[in-house]
This record gives sequence, structure tokens and C-alpha cells, in this order.
Amino acid sequence: MSLSLINATLFIGDGRVLEPGYVEVDQDRIVKVGRGSPGKKKGEVMDLGGLVLCPGFIDCHVHLCFDGGPDPERAALGKSLPALTLAAAAHAGQTLLAGVTTVRDMGGPEGIVQGIREAVALGIVQGPRILASGRMICMTGGHGWHLGGLEADGPDSVRKAVREQLKAGADWIKLMATGGVMTPRSQPGATQLTEEELRAGVEEARKAGRRTAVHAQGETGTLNSLRAGVDTIEHGVFLTQEAVEMMKARGRALVPTLSAPHNILGHADQGVPREAVEKTRRVVKIHLASLELAREAGVLIGAGTDAGTPFNRHGRNLAEIVRLAENGFGALEALKSATHDAARVLGLEDRIGLLAPGYEADLVALAGDPLSRIGTLEEAGAVRLVIRSGKVIRDRRAG
Ligand SMILES: [Zn+2]
Repeated sequence: MSLSLINATLFIGDGRVLEPGYVEVDQDRIVKVGRGSPGKKKGEVMDLGGLVLCPGFIDCHVHLCFDGGPDPERAALGKSLPALTLAAAAHAGQTLLAGVTTVRDMGGPEGIVQGIREAVALGIVQGPRILASGRMICMTGGHGWHLGGLEADGPDSVRKAVREQLKAGADWIKLMATGGVMTPRSQPGATQLTEEELRAGVEEARKAGRRTAVHAQGETGTLNSLRAGVDTIEHGVFLTQEAVEMMKARGRALVPTLSAPHNILGHADQGVPREAVEKTRRVVKIHLASLELAREAGVLIGAGTDAGTPFNRHGRNLAEIVRLAENGFGALEALKSATHDAARVLGLEDRIGLLAPGYEADLVALAGDPLSRIGTLEEAGAVRLVIRSGKVIRDRRAG
């Protein structure tokens, strides 16, 4: 099937804007991108009436298994595996409808997310392209242990845990280098898996051609992770000049997940566990200062929501772009962090995240001129058209 999308403002993904412009799609690929209007149009023509057309958005950090309610931990522990699986499928559908065509899931119980990935690929349920990390790997009693985390102690044990996740079909490996906000009695700054343990995990992942993401909030855990060779730092709450310079020099990326603290503090008195609120309050300022430090050092930064954490609902993923824009990025750079830069974070920059010939036909049309007023992304009805791999998922062009 060929499709021409005409009369749009194009956000290319790398920061460039073409206005007016058009995109031509054949099957699941973009075949042509241009300024003005196409000459002879083939196949179906969709007039976008001046909407902003972007590459499908990428969320580098979600938890499809967790519900984004006030206390996702309690909600997850109260559900059977089949119920959790169905909930994850529903969350995948909500995510896609919001214009997110690719997600990297950063951990959940058992092989649920790999199952959702399979069901999406088979067309059984609707969802974004999913990169699954399977179960998070943590030390005994470490961050995430009670949320399906796989406990491992010592380099050999971590090696085995990584091998088990690879066997279970993980696309990425998620390691826990520090404590965090959501695990009771775990402190965000506390060091957890050691450098040797992390190194063993990274080595096993690399042998299989897989990358590693690390939950790293405290300073020592972050430096341990970087020395061990991990590919992405998740959260990066306490970053130092040494850490950001190491990230820049080694080409490591940061996924700051601003939506997580924003939503915890924004709904502090609405049933979020008190301990999580207090821990978040203590670190929120330093987290934003760390982001600034990384940005100034030129570290690659990808948008990721941590969707599934308190009041961080699936389907509201574009809010992260607004958070980044509010914290020094501005609209174009924030949009880039959720398209081309996010694709680079995931190692998929040759395939997704740009409006360019040969790329996947993942396309999202937005109303309300987000290029000059980014807050519009949080408004209901902002996402007017969603196309994933050439297939129209949502079409509300008329509003
Ligand atoms: Zn997370």
C-alpha cells in the first residue's frame, strides 16, 4: 500500500523542520520526504491540514507490567501472572495510541514483556515495537527485588542471571547499581551491585550482542557502572563532573526519567507510599542539576518516562518531552530526545527516529503547534494520527 501525507509541518527528528512538507510511504517504509507538495501522488492521500508530522515517538524507559496508579508495587503484587500480562497488553495499546511507536521496557516479572512483544508482532494485540529487558537483575534485597527482580550475588551469579534473561529472550539487560525510590528501605544513593558484578553482566550481554542499562542513582554506583562499561545510565540522580565526562568520552547515554519524580511529587497526598514521596523530595533538585551537568557536557540524552511508576500513566508518555523542554531543552531539542536521540540511545538510529527514506513508516501527527508551545503535548487530543510500520492505528485528523 502506498500513502502520501501532504500539507504538514515536518519535524524531521534531528531538529530540522520543513514547512510545508510531505512524506510518501510504501508498505512499512518511508520512501520520500520533501518540501512543498509531491508531484504525482500514488495511492492514498492524507491531507494533514498543517498538523506537525513527527517520527513515531520512542520511550526509552517504561514498565509495561506496572499500572501507574498510586501504589503500583502493591497493585502488581496483588495480581496473578495472567492478570498482570493482560494489564501489560492494555498498557502497550495505550502507549501506541499516544504516539509512541517504540518502547524499551526496563523490567518486570517473569517473561511477561517478551510475551507482549510476541503478541504484538503476531498482531494479537496492538502495541509499539518493544525492546524487552525481562527481569531486572539486582543484588539480594536490592532495588526491585520484590517487583520481579532476579537476585544475584557475585560476578558468576550475575553472569548466570544475564544468561537466563538472554535465554528468556531479553533484547536488553537491566542491572541495578544502586538503591532507589520505590523499594522500601532502599536508599537512592546506596551502592548495590559492585563494579565486578556489573562488569560480568556487561560482558555476558556483549557476548550475545546485547546492550546493558543500569539503574544508577548514587554517585559511586554510577561510576561503578560506567567503569564496568554499561551503555545507558537510567535516572542519573547524583551525577558528577567526572561521571558526565566519562559518559561523553565513552559515548554512554543518560535517560533521566523526569516524569517519575514529577508525578510522585505532583500527587504526593493521593496515596503514593509516603517513603517514596520523602525520598523523592530529598533528591529532586540534585536530579535536575545532574541533568543540566550532563546536557552541558554534551552527553547523549534519551527521553524515557519510567511509565508505570506512581501516577506515571501509560499513554501519557509525551509528558516527558514537556518535562525535558521545561528543564533547559526547549521544544526542538526535547522532541529530538524522543525521536532521533532516543533511537541512538537504543542503537536503532538507522531504522527509526527520523523522517527519511528507508526508515520505518512510524509517524505521528500533532495538533496545536508543539514546536512553539510544547505544553500542548499534554493536552487531550494533541495526537491526531498514529501510523506504525505503515499501518494507520489512529486517525482523528478532524479533531
Ligand atoms: Zn524504571
